[in-house]
Amino acid sequence: MTKKLSIIVPCYFEEESVPLFYDAVQRVAPELKDVELEYWFINDGSTDGTLAEMRKLQEKDPQHVHYASFSRNFGKEAALYCGLQQATGDYVVVMDVDLQDPPEMLPIMLKYLEDPNEDYDCVGTRRLTREGEPPVRSFFARMFYKLINRISDTEIVDGARDYRMMTRQMVDAILSMSEYNRFSKGIFSWVGFNTKYLEYKNRERAAGTTSWNFWKLFQYSIDGIVNFSQAPLDIATFIGALTAFVSLIGILWIITAKIFFGNPTAGWPSMVCIMLFIGGIQLSCLGIVGKYIGKIYAEVKHRPIYILKEKK
Ligand code: UDP
Ligand code: MG
Repeated sequence: MTKKLSIIVPCYFEEESVPLFYDAVQRVAPELKDVELEYWFINDGSTDGTLAEMRKLQEKDPQHVHYASFSRNFGKEAALYCGLQQATGDYVVVMDVDLQDPPEMLPIMLKYLEDPNEDYDCVGTRRLTREGEPPVRSFFARMFYKLINRISDTEIVDGARDYRMMTRQMVDAILSMSEYNRFSKGIFSWVGFNTKYLEYKNRERAAGTTSWNFWKLFQYSIDGIVNFSQAPLDIATFIGALTAFVSLIGILWIITAKIFFGNPTAGWPSMVCIMLFIGGIQLSCLGIVGKYIGKIYAEVKHRPIYILKEKK
């Protein structure tokens, strides 16, 4: 019986990459024996020719190519979720359209999943090096992985890409997590299952430019931490308790000094410093709490993760 492999491709302003991607995958398709391909291109609200390219491909290969288009940009995480919902394959693979995820790896990934001697539910990929990336970005990325793995129970593998092939069972598990705040790297790991990591060398984009700048990545890492760890709340509590304790000692000291040594408690500048110090701590702790409340607010509104405008 032939199995079906669904390929999910989120696209945001990628008119040049879409046809290149399709050709590249079609080239390795003969190596995927006994497997029928199903493409799901997700247009994440791009307003260039991305959707037109998808329509063209769909007309050319209506049996295998499908697309879904959002009413606006909802982000890559939303596009992935939509793709996973649409996919009907026995295996599902998530790929970037810019060919940074080498299609040559597809047959190898499939082999691991189909191997009856192994018990893998997922084959993921890791970048060995971060070549071609600004050093500052690499540094902060490393710091992020160290930090999140220390404070979160969910393991997030350093350098792991979103490029991964999963069994239907794992896809259904991911779909059962319908949370609004989606941090895929954490979700893939949270659902468990056996994952095999393949390593490969980083590649440059085939065309177009990345839509991630430093600030967006920073926001993304904060989202990852807030979604998969409560440690910041504990840290805030700890700092609060510590400053309260230290100031208590200070107060006792001042009272003792006044009663037994008659010291005048002078110096309002030091007072102002202390007030600002405590005020600062309070505000930043409030900020941390606020971040979590914001997430809860987004979650309880139960807004849809994306809105479809067109699907074929
Ligand atoms: N992408 C998306 N929506 C967005 C941003 C990006 O669907 O809001 C897609 C993009 O088209 C690409 C993939 O996500 O297929 C990865 O994006 P990019 O290559 O810009 O990220 P990088 O590889 O630099 O991490
Ligand atoms: Mg890329």
